[in-house]
Amino acid sequence: MTGGVTSSLGKGIISASLGRLLQACGFKVTIQKLDPYINIDPGTLNPYEHGECYVTDDGAETDLDLGHYERFLDIQTSQANNVTTGRIYQSVIDKERRGDYLGKTVQIIPHITDEIKRRITLLGKKGDYDVIITEIGGTAGDIESLPFIEAVRQLRWDLGPDNTALIHLTLVPFLAASGELKTKPTQHSVKILLENGLQPDVLVLRTEHELTKDIRKKVSLFCNVQLEAVIQSIDVSTIYEVPLLMKEENLDKTILHRLNLEPKQNLELKPWRNFVSKLKSAKTVVEIALVGKYVELHDSYKSIMESLIQAGVVNDTRVIVHCLHSEMIAAENIKEELSGYDGIIVAPGFGDRGIEGKILAVQYARENKVPFLGICLGLQCAVIEFARNVLGYKDAHSTEMTNMTKHPVIDLMEEQKGVTEKGGTMRLGGYPCDLVENSISYKAYKEKNIRERHRHRYEFNNDYLEEFEKKGMVAAGINPESGLVEIMEQPDHPWFVGTQFHPEYRSTVLNPHPLFVSFIEGVLKNKK
Ligand code: GLN
Repeated sequence: MTGGVTSSLGKGIISASLGRLLQACGFKVTIQKLDPYINIDPGTLNPYEHGECYVTDDGAETDLDLGHYERFLDIQTSQANNVTTGRIYQSVIDKERRGDYLGKTVQIIPHITDEIKRRITLLGKKGDYDVIITEIGGTAGDIESLPFIEAVRQLRWDLGPDNTALIHLTLVPFLAASGELKTKPTQHSVKILLENGLQPDVLVLRTEHELTKDIRKKVSLFCNVQLEAVIQSIDVSTIYEVPLLMKEENLDKTILHRLNLEPKQNLELKPWRNFVSKLKSAKTVVEIALVGKYVELHDSYKSIMESLIQAGVVNDTRVIVHCLHSEMIAAENIKEELSGYDGIIVAPGFGDRGIEGKILAVQYARENKVPFLGICLGLQCAVIEFARNVLGYKDAHSTEMTNMTKHPVIDLMEEQKGVTEKGGTMRLGGYPCDLVENSISYKAYKEKNIRERHRHRYEFNNDYLEEFEKKGMVAAGINPESGLVEIMEQPDHPWFVGTQFHPEYRSTVLNPHPLFVSFIEGVLKNKK
């Protein structure tokens, strides 16, 4: 899957939708994303640059599209599902230093392109899949994408006819002044691919208005793509409708035909359709405040947003999320800012910018008995707030923010103390957690041993646990191996849970996350 004309057309959603449809025809499918930037992974990027950093169970910090893949396909992805230019060059340069290419000049073709091809085919060797969808990040024509495009050209040749299909996603803009849809950008974009030796098999055209038969015919003729393979992707109110629209456009059939595959079963989309119809018909509405500091860009909290939508569907409820900037929250305006919401979430984050606003938001939720969910830094803020305002340690803080505190209730994890490099060095990925019976979390998960994904350096300081528990904030989840606190709760509150892990990475359409489901349940109960 490549993209042209502009970025942000939704390649990730189209890939995930195709994946879902192929799954529904009985195939085993996975999706990978190749990102043309030089960072080794997006872990060191600010969310403003690239949206949320998604974390897989095996501890890879990845592009947020992998979140869509997991949510749509209900599969687990891994490091192999996201590869950047940085990682490709790193492997090639490591090999060069080892002497693997001794005597040879190391070049983009064949060495970089070979490494790209190796990464693309790796998943097919490691896992048992019928189809692998590879999404090439960026836009056709970008300098950065060229080695990837060339690798795709070679790979199609290596694998032979009927074993690959190339989908190209472009934009058909609507010119309001003349009232016309324009296909020229698509034609140009396909020309760029042709110059690089690639002929797309399928064109997916993103559009705000229905494409007429004539437009489809024109694209078909000028771009050498069969008429049935010119597919419309029209704007919809929810991304979860896209698989259904792609079904109507026969994207699955077109691809299977191209790959010479027969469906293994009659397409089964009932649970998905149920989800979408419940999503659209929900009558109850709840409004949640999400307090964070990257709120200008909604993609920064993508997985949390989607988890809330999914948990809403389970509860027949539409969840409206209001993103509040923690830097704008102060003691003087807290009431104005936070009153009127049915629930409050304090988001994950790093660094001390806006931290006091987050701590105030927790205080507001605790004192006014508003259902509260704190995620990672959100939990840490809840701990700091409790230490300051209930235990009376006015200077309590996390040592991430200051070393001057006498009460470091959140402190650097032991294994982090010698770490100086920033890339990929946090506590990352899935770790086990044992739940305390009768806790809110235990009732939500309905099981004792769970496993959740992490991305942090700091932790709850166990020296304070006894004091916290005496005063009403208790540990409800503990890592059985390290004893690290994973969940803190306040039993004397309608619904107050903070997690050191990120539950949002595990919520999918067909398996919404129990903690988010329970949170929305708590919100609804409290509202009544
Ligand atoms: N900054 C905190 C830490 O590193 C929390 C991280 C997060 O919210 N993901 O522990």
